[in-house]
Amino acid sequence: MPELPEVETIRRDLLLHVVGRRFTAVEVMSGAEKVVAAPSPAEFRRALPGLRIEGVERRGKYLLFPLSDGRYLIVHLRMTGALIHRLPGAAADGYLRVRLSLDDKTELRYTDLRKLGMMWLVDDPTLVVGKLGPDALEGLALEMLRSRLDGRTAPVKVVLMDQARLAGLGNIYADEALFLAGVHPRRPAGSLAADEVERLHGAVGKVLREAMGHRGSSFRDYVDAEGREGEHQKHVKVYRRAGEPCYNCGAVIERIKLGGRSTHFCPHCQR
Ligand SMILES: [Zn+2]
Repeated sequence: MPELPEVETIRRDLLLHVVGRRFTAVEVMSGAEKVVAAPSPAEFRRALPGLRIEGVERRGKYLLFPLSDGRYLIVHLRMTGALIHRLPGAAADGYLRVRLSLDDKTELRYTDLRKLGMMWLVDDPTLVVGKLGPDALEGLALEMLRSRLDGRTAPVKVVLMDQARLAGLGNIYADEALFLAGVHPRRPAGSLAADEVERLHGAVGKVLREAMGHRGSSFRDYVDAEGREGEHQKHVKVYRRAGEPCYNCGAVIERIKLGGRSTHFCPHCQR
């Protein structure tokens, strides 16, 4: 599932290619109508042509395109979605759900094996992203993170992934940040000592920046805005490494379920 580093990689790529372009046509493929969350697919197809893309922004795992009439196109890739910019005459992409044609003859193609992703065309972006917590990357202050964890009895891993508390972290980077901070994922969030919150704060930033340096993680379906896989899956320390030795201490990495999600950690390095 694309998390903050993957969505930010896509955002930076698209910034170079689509800003200033106008939509010329929109195709919502048959059977993919539910991908368009709002307005109706018919209204979505009718409204976009003629509008110019003024920028590419990100909030947590959401991509936002401010448009020339003041509205916003918002995309959430969820599990298997991808937003790929293709040059004229590019080969077909599998699982194409929405085709957005641009005035330079290029296309933005939304592909999605499982069709769980969503897009919106809205006047007010807060209708979609208004309930998100502070961004896990952009200016996340130590005090902000502390206030998000304080008093919580839920496992710290679950709190880190709660998008209303902190936006952008999912399963991969929550596991990796907790390993780097030496904090056990099952610890009640409010039980972390000041130095542990400080280490976790540093670890979240470091893990996200490293992953962006590798253009994201492609464990399964993730591709960037040019259809290429990321490299960070080769550099993870615990995620999907259950049964393998910890790079720090040699102990066997374990896997448990927390909040319904597989959670990977070193029982020796993380307390
Ligand atoms: Zn270890």
